[in-house]
Amino acid sequence: MDLGALTLQGYSLGGVETAVAAPELRLAFDVGRGRGDLLRCDNIALTHTHMDHVGGLPFLIALRQLYRMAPPTVYVPGQLAAELAAMLKAFEPLQRFPMACTIVPVEAGQRYPLRRDLYLEPFRTYHPVPSFGYTVVQTVEKLDPSLLGLPGHEIAARRKRGEQVTRTEERAILSVTGDTLAQVLEKQPHILRSEVLVLECTFLDERKPLAEAHAGGHVHLSDLWPFVDAFENRTLVLSHFSQIYSGAQIGALLTPFAERVKPVVRALPTEPGGPEPTVGARPASDQ
Ligand SMILES: [Zn+2]
Ligand SMILES: [Zn+2]
Repeated sequence: MDLGALTLQGYSLGGVETAVAAPELRLAFDVGRGRGDLLRCDNIALTHTHMDHVGGLPFLIALRQLYRMAPPTVYVPGQLAAELAAMLKAFEPLQRFPMACTIVPVEAGQRYPLRRDLYLEPFRTYHPVPSFGYTVVQTVEKLDPSLLGLPGHEIAARRKRGEQVTRTEERAILSVTGDTLAQVLEKQPHILRSEVLVLECTFLDERKPLAEAHAGGHVHLSDLWPFVDAFENRTLVLSHFSQIYSGAQIGALLTPFAERVKPVVRALPTEPGGPEPTVGARPASDQ
């Protein structure tokens, strides 16, 4: 999925398997069944520990060892870190080798550096187990606006004298919610301004009553309509669709919403290598 400045690779079927990777950032959000296409992601941010999101983690760690790759760094909601470590530890006597990875217990609102100009910021989401979404923030050095129009040699001279000539700007380039109730949009409104937002939207029509969707801690498409004018993202990627919908139904059911909302709406494929459901009347070149 080419989203301009960023590529996303992912697949998501509610309850079965969810993994979203940003290859340029070497970062994966959840790992589904631990497939090889996630191997290049040295950083793994887990939204929560339901099986469809983390089941493949031991396998992915073992695959990296097989290929002599460095152990990954795994970010996990702090309340679940000890249990995750214990799960991996339990595999060691079975495998007869260490399950090498660095587990970073994360807390909402803290910042975790991924590289010099990039960090991960967890935010609270609303699901039956402890859960976080993540925003990826990029810092960009920009010329201080008060110096705009000055000749280059003058700016260089000021820099040489030790004056501050740049200002650091922050861009939220990507937010990924993981499984959650739609109240995340109210409680974490910054994600409505992230350039790309990957949002869970498991249920799409009346085949799933709203109350049942909410009891499972999931978003129903009708939860999003009250926010229709609030999304300021460039791209909104919906994900985690229930198995009750075919790819064609996903596209058709999302289209009225997609035609009304400001961001371009995309839908994650429901299986690895599967087609992206066609939402609205996007040109074929953009598929
Ligand atoms: Zn799930
Ligand atoms: Zn879940």
